[in-house]
Amino acid sequence: MIDVILGLGSNKNWNGMDSMTLLKKACLSLREFLSDFSCSSVYRTKPLYLENQPDFYNMVVRGKVGDFYSPFELLDEIQKIEKSLGRNRAVEVRNGSRSMDIDIEFFGLHKVDTERLVIPHPRIKERAFVLVPLLEILNEDADFIRREDFSECLEQTGSAGVEKYGRL
Ligand code: AMP
Repeated sequence: MIDVILGLGSNKNWNGMDSMTLLKKACLSLREFLSDFSCSSVYRTKPLYLENQPDFYNMVVRGKVGDFYSPFELLDEIQKIEKSLGRNRAVEVRNGSRSMDIDIEFFGLHKVDTERLVIPHPRIKERAFVLVPLLEILNEDADFIRREDFSECLEQTGSAGVEKYGRL
């Protein structure tokens, strides 16, 4: 089995559902194809790139897929989930408000570098909103990625603007 780590974020209501409800729905859909599913707490975070927008609600989830599952199949699945939760890339601003954003942070130790998909996600190390929940769910001892690498990154970014909000 391959260990997969995803980053989820939402800062816009959709169809009468707030961000917490949308995150809950995304997790229910992800559980359908990720085994051994677990998730971090939800963090309320200040927007990083485009600052004039509502706070985000972010979390990290992990699970496993079969050895023959491809990262591109996973990207197709997460984009279906985003779409089912109100995501409409045709009308949105880059790094702006969105009802649901799901990124593939890690796909086992695989490296992918294509126009459509880059894994590990290239901006993990600059994003405290990923690093904080990531460190929450990585095992204290050996995991498939080294915890210390990311705690060092968090020392660089600091965790200002990332506050624990609660659990789903
Ligand atoms: P976003 O606006 O964050 O949803 O991402 C926009 C595009 O990034 C998507 O259409 C993907 O094709 C691409 N992308 C590249 N690498 C990744 C990744 N690791 N996880 C998710 N999307 C990715």
